[in-house]
Amino acid sequence: MYRFKRIAVKIGSNVLTHSDGTLDTERMSELVDQLALLHSKGVEIVLISSGAVASGRSTLKLEKEPDPVSARQIFSAIGQARLINIYYELFSKHGICCGQVLTTKESLSTRSHYLNQKNCITGLLQNKVIPILNENDTISLTELMFTDNDELSGLVATMMDVEALIILSNIDGIYNANPSDPDAKVITEVAEGQNLTKYIQSSKSSFGRGGMLTKTNIARKVAAEGITVIIANGKRENILPDLLENGSKTVCTTFLPSKKEVSSIKKWIAHSDGFSKGSITINENACKALLSGKASSILFVGITKVEGDFLKGDIIKIKDESNNVLAVGKAQYESAKMSQSIGKKGLRPAVLYDYLWIMINR
Ligand code: GLU
Repeated sequence: MYRFKRIAVKIGSNVLTHSDGTLDTERMSELVDQLALLHSKGVEIVLISSGAVASGRSTLKLEKEPDPVSARQIFSAIGQARLINIYYELFSKHGICCGQVLTTKESLSTRSHYLNQKNCITGLLQNKVIPILNENDTISLTELMFTDNDELSGLVATMMDVEALIILSNIDGIYNANPSDPDAKVITEVAEGQNLTKYIQSSKSSFGRGGMLTKTNIARKVAAEGITVIIANGKRENILPDLLENGSKTVCTTFLPSKKEVSSIKKWIAHSDGFSKGSITINENACKALLSGKASSILFVGITKVEGDFLKGDIIKIKDESNNVLAVGKAQYESAKMSQSIGKKGLRPAVLYDYLWIMINR
């Protein structure tokens, strides 16, 4: 009866909190009721929940506000405990067990870390447990953090091979104009490759909807990997079962999934640009070949520059001569060897097509 069997649901802080920043436990309870219903019908759910920092901030009043990093660490430590406690109690009322999975960008930066994390979540799902993920803000380093939980949810959706990623926010979706404009409408479907930047920027500059750009970029990337992405309003009653109904007419923005098969290694690389250890720059002909839509590897003859200190197997960025990042890939050689081989013909590729992901939002 539902159109998806395995989903990732990301709930944003603004859905879980009142306007004064305190936790909206009634909303949490309603969302857990909806998740429990889906769970009872056999839908496998991976939950990515924000709200730790907001919850901590409204729980403990500090005499003197510490620096932003310490504040994030202190509030997330308190808030995450509170958040997971509430989830645990709420799910228990439905006879459902949930488990806390805290992660950092760094702990997903190598293939073995990534597979280790996947193993944990797979084990929880196999035992009918609902994993509840959040970034471990108590230990994550500012420069190595996920932009936000939208980024984390995109990575998790891909890692767990879900059929759909549902991002719940406090608006109905992406609008085709400034949302305060009476003629503004929610864009219901986004086709593969469709660029929405012009809509996002107009609403961002006037309303400070900072998160919409990341949401859209993540949504496009995940949809390109073959996963349906839905942005919907988590404050709407019964939103999750409504979205999963076949032929659902619920207001939301759906990013249609690509029909192209993407290998699991390419999917991992797609979410690895934040872990890159260096970069190579390629000339115009090599750029054309890379973006031609045909399967082509990066050859030394097209490389003009090698930057950074990386090893064979590390993730590197592939840039054009204007410094735009076109792709990410796995280096077939260490940086010193690559530097020595710049412009040479007849060598094996520097980055193989099978280990290359072309950026959607370039
Ligand atoms: N990890 C943060 C929290 O739980 C949320 C990050 C975000 O805003 O997406 O408060």
